[in-house]
This record gives sequence, structure tokens and C-alpha cells, in this order.
Amino acid sequence: MQKLVLTAAISMLALAACNSKEKEPATSGETNSGVSSAQIINADNSSWLSYGRTYDEQRFSPLATVNADNVANLGLAWSYDLDSSRGIEATPIVHDGMMYVTSTYNVVHAMNARTGAPVWTWEPEIDMVQASNACCDIVNRGVALWGDTIFTATIDGRLVALNAKTGDVIWDKLTIDKSKPYTITGAPRVVKGKVIIGNGGAELGVRGYISAYDAETGDMDWRFYTVPGNPEDGFENDTMAMAAETWTGEWWTAGGGGTAWDAMAYDPDLDLLYFGVGNGSPWNQSIRSPDGGDNLFLSSMVAVRPDTGEYVWHYQTTPGETWDYTATQHLMLADLEIDGKTRKVIMQAPKNGFFYVIDRESGEFISANNFVPVNWATHIDEETGRPVEIEAARYYGKEPYLQLPGPLGAHNWHPMSYSQDTGLVYIPAQEAPWVYGDRANYKHTPGTWNTGTDFSYALLPTDRATFKALKSMVKGRLLAWDPVKQEEAWTFEHNGPWNGGILSTGGNLVFQGTADAHFAAYNAKTGDQLWKYFTQSGIGAAPITYELDGVQYVAVASGYGGSFVLGFGAVLPSGSDFNSGRVLVFKLGADGSLPAPLDAAMPEFDLPEPVEISDELLAKGVTAYANSCAVCHGDHAFASGLTPNLRYSGVTADAETWQMVVREGLLAENGMPNFGKVYDAETAEAIRAYVIGEAHSGRDQEFYKTIDE
Ligand code: CA
Repeated sequence: MQKLVLTAAISMLALAACNSKEKEPATSGETNSGVSSAQIINADNSSWLSYGRTYDEQRFSPLATVNADNVANLGLAWSYDLDSSRGIEATPIVHDGMMYVTSTYNVVHAMNARTGAPVWTWEPEIDMVQASNACCDIVNRGVALWGDTIFTATIDGRLVALNAKTGDVIWDKLTIDKSKPYTITGAPRVVKGKVIIGNGGAELGVRGYISAYDAETGDMDWRFYTVPGNPEDGFENDTMAMAAETWTGEWWTAGGGGTAWDAMAYDPDLDLLYFGVGNGSPWNQSIRSPDGGDNLFLSSMVAVRPDTGEYVWHYQTTPGETWDYTATQHLMLADLEIDGKTRKVIMQAPKNGFFYVIDRESGEFISANNFVPVNWATHIDEETGRPVEIEAARYYGKEPYLQLPGPLGAHNWHPMSYSQDTGLVYIPAQEAPWVYGDRANYKHTPGTWNTGTDFSYALLPTDRATFKALKSMVKGRLLAWDPVKQEEAWTFEHNGPWNGGILSTGGNLVFQGTADAHFAAYNAKTGDQLWKYFTQSGIGAAPITYELDGVQYVAVASGYGGSFVLGFGAVLPSGSDFNSGRVLVFKLGADGSLPAPLDAAMPEFDLPEPVEISDELLAKGVTAYANSCAVCHGDHAFASGLTPNLRYSGVTADAETWQMVVREGLLAENGMPNFGKVYDAETAEAIRAYVIGEAHSGRDQEFYKTIDE
């Protein structure tokens, strides 16, 4: 009798499953085998099928085998060497017992998800000259999976389809105009058989867009430009004509910017694809669009139809953007109970420091509040949904302004997580101030950073007391945010900024790695730290979890890098000198250990001979260094280890070689841009004099490490 009841219950369930299938979205482009949209929507616990796990990008797994009661027993099951000593930002994708991870220069690694045994790797043969346009390290956030195919987007602008079993190339398409400084760091998403990918390059000067490619053939289906082009060429569509109404001057000459370099989400019921749009090219609005205007769709979230790329709605977080306040940060969908009504919302914590809750059907503003201290706007007006700016923050034609947040953001690309159990959004939040100032005599110079701001105002102070005071303003934390009340639930303060992405689970846990090389688990409700593991290398990437043979695994990729590290990694050290890209996989009861780290102590070097130079020329060298070199070789010519340390370089020591490297592209194949069209020989020598002066300044590793004492 009991058996019969059970059978009846099972057939009822099966019936329910059949019925629910009818409600599933259009299945155009579905494949017969492998991963489909239905699988991504209803993600099973054995896998992690898409960048944000599911199309809503919540990064929440219901798995609870590892939970707040037993997480103290978590140990290393295995690790996999990614053969990298730069930033690793990839979210691993797991399916069918396999794991897929991208490393530096877009090498794709496929491994056994139970053991870490290598299965295949794919080397993309990157065009290093194109790759040298990367603003923020040679990073990549991971692959997409659809059918039996892996999709990866490369730093030199290609979208590539690989056989998931073998790594063999199926197709390889260029998605950019290589005469322009485009790069790609984002993970593709696949929606209804279309592979969606954007790009970056707004620091150097490009026109942003996002494109859809047919997963089977690699043919482009549609392209949505995020900013209007030259009106004389005709607008691509009515949306661009509408956007052009919000621009002034000759914005198209420097590209306009608005690159869609990271966030996407998809709502299958509303059939809307969402993506985030970046900052302006150049940053400085008085140059980009001299008579003001909102400059659509800069710093906006945009909703389009995934079949056609047709515009549906937008919400602009920072109208008339002028601070590199991208809205490319994590977009996350959830259904929230607000004022007694269930609202379908999209949420974002963009660089500008406000947390936004927006109606994802209409784009209507619901609420916003700052999640860190900000001093560029007082609040977001509830009627208009627009920020109420503080006048001094628009720095052009004014005094330089010490601002929170700076261009590194109150939150950058590092993924958040939303727990369906606690109703909280977990944000890798930070406080990273910056001094914005107008760039005197600015002119657009192709091949270099074109921000229209003067980065020499943002160089860190050289006297100990001022440096210490500024450093004390730089912070990083794990922030649990209540999106309904728009207030903090709890925080866990880290040693500094630039910490890793986040995972939350049904085990009442939140996982996050840190810049100072730890991976930890927290009670999702209270923020109590329950477990902590020393990972040797700093972590930026977000963790994932999956279950195979009844064993729950928690995985994260280590490897410290990205824009903060390139610029400030040596003068604001994270606490770990060692840097090795690895996949680290944990399970309960395991007791594996990592290979011993190599001694990272800096070897003794001879300093280059000092150079005699006039104060006027030296000032020229400082400005040039700050605006063109510091973003890769570090504040005060002190590199983090990701790029050559110019203070001790043989190239710096030899004036002739220096000229060949800086002005003739001698090391272009190593990723060093040719500044021959930007700087004359005298300015190049002035940069060298500045670098050598810094080397002799006494502000060495010890100086920066002991600044707090
Ligand atoms: Ca930017």
C-alpha cells in the first residue's frame, strides 16, 4: 500500500515536471546533448554551469553537506597549478565530472573535478601587441559551457569555441577592430544558443558594444553599441539616435567609451538579457562631452531582447560620468518582498558606492543607499532616481578633489552573492580614495591611457606621516547588505582592499578569499569567521561549490593581480609576497597541503647610476610616468612583481636601451606598448631620471612595509 502511494506521488511529480516544462522559455538554439538553458536555469548541485551559477547570477548553492557546524573540518582535497604568477579571476565551470578554468593569457585548463588530474589544456597564441592594450592585467574571468562546447573570449579580442572533451578548436572569431585598443577579460554567457560577449578599452579610447554569436557556427547575430557614433555616419538604430541626444561636442573622436566588460544576467520569464556599461572615453566629461549631458548609456544597466539585441530599458547609475564610475559590476536578479509586494528586481553595487535595487521588468528605480562612505554625491533622489552631486567632485576647472570612491571602486569586478536563506547580499566592498584633477593641455594620444585627468595628483605621498594618514583610509571588508532595508546587516573587516569574490550556500555559509592569501568561511547570518586556510597567494576570484558521489567540494582559484595590484601592490603590500595561480579544492576531512612556497625575498641589485636633470624636466617625467607607466609598473616606480621592476632593471640602467624600449617598441612582443608617438626622446629620458631617482629615494620595500609602525 505504501509503495503504491509512493508510486502515485512519483507520477504526480513527473506530471508536475511535464507541466512546468511547458512554461519553460523558448528553446531556440537548444542542443540535443550537453548543457542547455533549462539546465542552467534549474542548476543541479553536482555542477556549476555558468559564470554566476544560474542566469540570475546569485552565486548561491543550496548544498549543505558542508555547513556552519562542520566547516572547521574542511581541508585541501587537491590543488592544480595554473602556471601563472599574475592575476587569476576565473570562476571555474564544472560539468559531468570535469572542471574548466582560464589562466593568464587565456590558457584554458580542463581537469578531473574529483581529483584535479589534467585532461587537456588549450594555448590561444595571443597577439601580444593587442594584449598590451589591457588596462588591468592579463586576466580572464572564465569560460562558458553550452551543449558540448566550451567558449572562451581572449585578451586579444577573439571568441573561441572548443570541444569540451578534447579542447580542439571548433571555431575562432575576431570580435574587434584590431586597429583600436580593445581587449576582452570577461566570461561569455550563452543564452538561447547565442554566445554573448562584450569588451574593454575605455581607458585608452574605444566605442563600447556587446555582441551575440551563434554557438554552432560562430556567426554574429547582433551587436548593440552602448554609445552613439559619429552622427554623419548615420545611427545604427533609433536607440542610438535617442542616446545621441544626451551627448555634446565631438564625443565620437575618442570613442566615447561605455565598454561592457563584465556583468550580464538573464531572466528567462521576461526574456530579457541585462548587461552593465562602463565609463566614458575619456573619463573627463568636460573633454568628452563639453556641454554636459547624461551621455547614455555610460554607467548604466541595460536590458535587451536576447534574440535580436533590441533595446528595452536602461537605468543610469552615474549620469554624465567623469570618474571611471563603471556600472559593469555584478548584476544579480532576485524576487524581493518590498512594501508587502513581491518585486522582480535587479541589483548592483557599482563602483560609485551606492547599492541599487531596480525593477527588472521596467527599469523603474526602487531604492538606493550608499554601502560605503562616499563624498561625490549626498544621496540618490527617490523621485528621479538620480544622484545629488557634491559640486567639488566634478573636478574639471576646479581644484583637485580627494574622493571616495576612486576609480578602483567601492566594489569592482569581484562577484557578490545573494543567499536565498538569509535574504542578504554579500559584497566584497572597499574604500579606496583617489585624487581627481584636470589634465592641463590634454590631447588624445592613441595607444596610451586617455582619461583627461592627471594621475600625478593621485601618486601616493612620499612623506611618512601623510602616507600613513592616506593609507589608513584604504580599507576592505566582507559586507552583508540587506537589499530590502538598504542597510548593513554585518561586516567583517579585512586587512586591506581588493579581496575575492563570494559564494553563499545552504549550509549557512559564506566563502571568500582575501588579498592577504587566506580563504575563509563565515556564518552567513552573523558574520562570525568559522574556518580559515592560508593559501600562500592572494585571491581575487570567486569560489564555487559542487557535489560528486555525495561529496561536496568547495573550489577557488588563487593568484593575485589586477589594476589595484599593478598600481599599488608594492607600496600597499597585501601581506603575501608569493604569487602562484592555482585551483584549490576543499572537502570535509581532507588534509592535503600545498607545495612549500618559494622564497620571494627580493635579491640584491645594483641601483642604476643617478641622472642629472633640471627640475622642470623632472616634473615632466613625473607627469608622464604617473599617466602612462604607473598603471602597470607601479606607484613611485615600484612594481608589484606582475611586471618588471623598473628600479632595478638593466633597461633602466642603459639610456640607449631605454629609448628603444619606450619609443621604438623593442619589447612589444612582451606586452610593453610603444610610446614613440606619445613621448619625445627628452621626455622618455625624464621618465628614466624619475625612476632612477625613486630607486635612490630610500623608499624601498622596507619603507612601505613598515609605514604603519
Ligand atoms: Ca574603467
